[in-house]
Amino acid sequence: MTFEELAKPEVRSQPVYEPGKPIEDVARELGLDPATIIKLASNENAFGTSPLAIAAAQEALGRSEMYPDGGCYRLREKLAKKWQLAPDQFVIGNGSNEILELLGHVFLRPGDEVVMGNPAFIVYKLVTLLFGAKPVEVPLIDHRHDLDRLADAVTEKTRLVFVPSPNNPTGTANTEDELRAFARRMPEHVIVVFDEAYAEYLESPSDLRPLISEGCKVICLRTFSKIYGLAALRVGYGYASSELATLLNRVRQPFNINAIAQAAAVAALDDEAFVSKCRERNLAGLQQLVVGFDAIGLTYVPSVANFVLTKVGDGLQIFHELQTRGVIVRPMGPYGMPEWLRITVGSHQQNEMALRELTAITQ
Ligand SMILES: *Cc1c(COP(=O)(O)O)cnc(C)c1O
Repeated sequence: MTFEELAKPEVRSQPVYEPGKPIEDVARELGLDPATIIKLASNENAFGTSPLAIAAAQEALGRSEMYPDGGCYRLREKLAKKWQLAPDQFVIGNGSNEILELLGHVFLRPGDEVVMGNPAFIVYKLVTLLFGAKPVEVPLIDHRHDLDRLADAVTEKTRLVFVPSPNNPTGTANTEDELRAFARRMPEHVIVVFDEAYAEYLESPSDLRPLISEGCKVICLRTFSKIYGLAALRVGYGYASSELATLLNRVRQPFNINAIAQAAAVAALDDEAFVSKCRERNLAGLQQLVVGFDAIGLTYVPSVANFVLTKVGDGLQIFHELQTRGVIVRPMGPYGMPEWLRITVGSHQQNEMALRELTAITQ
């Protein structure tokens, strides 16, 4: 028997997640100087990392012989203060992606159904399949989640519903009223997972905490990978009822968040000025990109996040051509949108370069 034959069926059929291409890979493959390449493919923060977070990470690095705090005490205290919730209402993950997997560990059995929009973050589907559950995909309307349709897809077998706002890859959001009303109409056996990875980019993010105190079965996920600029360190968190947080904490690895990441995340929460600056610069960058798309005659989906979808024709071909010119973006074939590219908002100069090369290719 081969290893492949011995593997569980869910593993054998598990699709492979294709991340944005690292600059080093592209440089090696195309014989380019990495310094001339820009990556606008993974919604990373073009404006860097808070200097406070870097200083804290460097200090923590000096105590690398010690195991990290498995309970993330300081980070949870800080988050509890920020959100005015109790520390035991938080679960910290190795990126919020890990929390998606923890939800699978706790709640998904083979045959269960998981409701999600399409296109939405591909990891929802991967996690669902990994646990032998069935993804029920609901098409978006005008690139936006239609929560009535999502609710209509819920059955007796549904255990989780993923609701990202803003959504990746579309950059569209639902209103606070819509999100709250959706959670309130869910039956008792369904847990709503609000993925708020890009919420900090909104001028007025939805406050979904009242749902928790009302007893709705919800969890809100946040990440330090996007506006906080800590994607390399892998930290995300969820807040929910303490009952749900406790279950999720039970299935995670004891030291899932390394000490450097914990220190950086605590410090990043103190740097509100950095977050506001990133929010403002992102808004200007989005504007710069869509003005550029208009000038080229490309349609796009108006976005409230730090990336934007644009329709270019043969997405894969334009993706390759941009790449040979040193601009890495994300082709949307894997999301069922082969004519589209997703472009992360870069610095002013990076946006300029992306638009220049797009113009040269498409005109
Ligand atoms: C980037 C992203 C995340 C965050 O992932 P991390 O594991 O925290 O880096 C979560 N959800 C969506 C929709 C994302 O785009």
